[in-house]
Amino acid sequence: MFRNLLLLLSLLMSPLSLPAASTWLAGVATANITPPEPLWLAGFASRTNAAEGKFMDLWIKILALEDTQGHRAIIMTSDTLGIPQGIYQHTCAALKEKFHLEPHQILLTASHTHCGPVLRNSLYDAYPLDDHQIELINKYSADFEKKIVETTGKAIADLAPARLVGGQGFAGFAVNRRNNPEAKVPKLIEEGALKGPSDHSVPVLAVYLPDGKLKALLFGYACHNTTLGFDKWSGDYAGFAQLALEKSHPGATAMFFMGCGGDQNPLPRRRVELAERYGQMLAAAVEETLIAPTNSSSHLSSVAPHFKTSLEMVTLNFGPVPTEAELEQIHSGTNNASHKRYAERLLNELKSGKQFPRTYSYPVQAWRLGESHLLIALGGEPVVDYSLKFKRQFGPQTWIAGYCNDVMTYIPSLRVLKEGGYEGGGAMVPYGQPATRWADDVEDLITSAVTRLVQSVSN
Ligand SMILES: [Zn+2]
Repeated sequence: MFRNLLLLLSLLMSPLSLPAASTWLAGVATANITPPEPLWLAGFASRTNAAEGKFMDLWIKILALEDTQGHRAIIMTSDTLGIPQGIYQHTCAALKEKFHLEPHQILLTASHTHCGPVLRNSLYDAYPLDDHQIELINKYSADFEKKIVETTGKAIADLAPARLVGGQGFAGFAVNRRNNPEAKVPKLIEEGALKGPSDHSVPVLAVYLPDGKLKALLFGYACHNTTLGFDKWSGDYAGFAQLALEKSHPGATAMFFMGCGGDQNPLPRRRVELAERYGQMLAAAVEETLIAPTNSSSHLSSVAPHFKTSLEMVTLNFGPVPTEAELEQIHSGTNNASHKRYAERLLNELKSGKQFPRTYSYPVQAWRLGESHLLIALGGEPVVDYSLKFKRQFGPQTWIAGYCNDVMTYIPSLRVLKEGGYEGGGAMVPYGQPATRWADDVEDLITSAVTRLVQSVSN
């Protein structure tokens, strides 16, 4: 009897007494986030109406990872313009409460499609939103937050043994939009005369089941997801790339994240055929890494089943506060409706005695997967200089993601900040920030934080 009881006890306890897994555990879950109602589309301030239906479904996709020490993290990819700060903060709080995930274990990315919905409190000066639209946006954003939490739960419940491999491929369609006038691009391509800088690498993380079947493909590219500017829901070239990969690998989930593509565009553009073509090029780049021979630079190497995750909220400094005279000038000196809305709002705030914040809490993240795979994730819309710089600093195999966790405006390098233009400071206005540029130390502050974080995950 006593022996039977012991046997029963040992059977009941066996799941707890199992040794830790000797492999990665990976779980994937997805949710359709196509708005059911005609919300305003995020991204182009020139639009005059809300969405007119769907061209392609929009998704959030979550990959949960757990290493042999039981350390967990999640990466979300999404067909959105960017995750606003408020949604990031709410979601992190909910994920901590429900799943004990700290912010350094959470990476929320956005594909920067310009055919996705406006989210709560983001870029409101850019669009002519009425009360009804704000109400729809608030409702959609609350549902969006709920879906992230539910889908994370499903991805964690799906955790199962997996093998990870990682590396980089190549796709050449991103064009530096500051240094190549859009109308001249076809000719410049013909002449081989496009000017950089650009980053044409395609980071790939492939997740395989023990039986060799592909479970997930996480991949990135540093190029604005703006082939299309119509008024229909669409994942743009990144959506086409994910559809193509999921078609050629039934059962696998394809997930796209943006690189440092702030100053890069898919050119030429504005035609569905081009979005599809760029998607196919990107999907082909990913496929090529999966079959690359071991002696090729795009061969994917095994990722040992341990990782370290880190995050720092860096205090970035805004440039000078716009004066009343400057705001009056913005207001009267333009026909641009979003500039007028911005100037009017700030003038009212100034007159009511509001103190504008002088700093912004900016998320920088670094994860080390296994010994040799490093992922750096930056908030905002970083220009490509950051990608190229961190590859020089940490090795060409480093993955650099932009548009992570909080997209508040563009993130220029010091070079782009000094050159000026939209990415250098102009975009602060549609983003509604209380300055027309960052302070000169923006690149230094981000570089120091990234260096600290990479060191912390390398020890
Ligand atoms: Zn952008």
